[in-house]
Amino acid sequence: MKKILVVAAHGDDPIIGAGGTIREFSKLHHEVCALSVCGDRIDGYSEAMKLLGAQAEHFEFSYGQIDEQRFSEELEKFMRSFNPDVVFTHWQSEILYDHEVVSNHTVKLARKLEKQIYLFEIPASSLDFQFDVAIDVSGSYEFKKRAIELMRNAFEKDVFEKEIMPSIVFPPGFRGIQVGCAYAEVFKHLGSRFPLSPYRKRLVDLETI
Ligand SMILES: [Zn+2]
Repeated sequence: MKKILVVAAHGDDPIIGAGGTIREFSKLHHEVCALSVCGDRIDGYSEAMKLLGAQAEHFEFSYGQIDEQRFSEELEKFMRSFNPDVVFTHWQSEILYDHEVVSNHTVKLARKLEKQIYLFEIPASSLDFQFDVAIDVSGSYEFKKRAIELMRNAFEKDVFEKEIMPSIVFPPGFRGIQVGCAYAEVFKHLGSRFPLSPYRKRLVDLETI
């Protein structure tokens, strides 16, 4: 059993970026914890995470107001205590301040603590996103949609319907077409400090060519 930690700025981000993957991990009996750094706009967050099979945690920062120093200290305490094998967080180039701050500190800390790191995509804010790993979430796509529905009241109606819901409904189908399954979520694998071989996953067996 592996311990998986998803560190996201806001409560909807783990669902948009990795909701299906969270459920796939939990179906395989891995322990998944989803941490929302902001503690506002999280109506329905615990219920959504429960549906996906993850433990829901949050810090008390507010949207757009993450104090970097305090966040970095709280995250280190949290990560040392949960002690995950794998860490998922935001893509590193983001037009939303919260997303970029959370990604930078989480990646830095996960490297220091020698975790495997994967970055997820938020279609409305990730700049020039590139992936090298895809997870087939066809069996969890309906759960991803149901999970975000549980958070409907955390957002203004317009934001939910015009930005958040489409970010859940459309990308998995598009990514699925690209990788050859019905629905997929995609990630950038940043590796870990050990082994020291950043492109390890590019090493392919000649038989597969
Ligand atoms: Zn967000």
